[in-house]
Amino acid sequence: MDYYVLTLFPEMIEACMKTSITGRAINNGYITMNAVNIRDYAANKHRHVDDYPYGGGAGMVMQAEPVYLACEDIKKKTKKNPRIIYMTPQGRVFDQSMAKELAKEEELVFLCGHYEGIDERAIELEVTDCISIGDYVLTGGELAALVVMDAVSRMVPGVLSNEESGKSESFENSLLEYPQYKRPEEFMGRRVPEILLSGHHANIEKWRREQSLARTAEMRPDLFKKAELDKKDIEYLKNNIKNLQL
Ligand code: SAM
Repeated sequence: MDYYVLTLFPEMIEACMKTSITGRAINNGYITMNAVNIRDYAANKHRHVDDYPYGGGAGMVMQAEPVYLACEDIKKKTKKNPRIIYMTPQGRVFDQSMAKELAKEEELVFLCGHYEGIDERAIELEVTDCISIGDYVLTGGELAALVVMDAVSRMVPGVLSNEESGKSESFENSLLEYPQYKRPEEFMGRRVPEILLSGHHANIEKWRREQSLARTAEMRPDLFKKAELDKKDIEYLKNNIKNLQL
């Protein structure tokens, strides 16, 4: 996966992406990271990229030209016509299924706005997708792009050292993950559930499935709308969770 991020703060993107699992993935060649400074495409000598909005109103807006030129330049450097994703609170709200879908691409370009956003004409000319990371407003698109790249990178084959750990996590089949325990067996008077020490794999699987169902019912019952539940799941939920609407 080759990432290109168009931003006014390339150092912010680089610092985060070069850390931890994404940093290791870069070093091992599973992903590449190219943070591009939109200011490099400003025509004026002070490299200003913002201006007052037509029609008045609060705040500044990023000008169309440097954004347009940056996108056009990136398109020359990429192999295919890549998706250009504008991070915006007005976009489709990001989720795990989008992370999986985006992970199938070879290249992704993220466009990060700042101030009050970007001149609409640059968006019309260049952007293929609009993604939001939630119903709140950030100061810039950088944190949002980092969230998306982090989640997408985990779905790129080879990035996680144990691929299984990506498969059984929360949101797989729209359920939250079961609780996890590591050594010691007892911590501050709390013991690991006995079943996990039994070595009985079928019983452990059953317990984990039921924990997933119970946790989803407690924290995110809305997820059941999309979950694939079998007869045993429905029976467990009916017998153990009060007032649950499926
Ligand atoms: N005036 C814009 C509006 O009301 O839609 C908000 C602009 S916001 C202050 C500045 C930039 O932050 C946006 O251009 C976008 O790139 C980014 N941003 C803010 N909130 C975001 C969110 N929830 N998801 C993705 N990007 C966001």
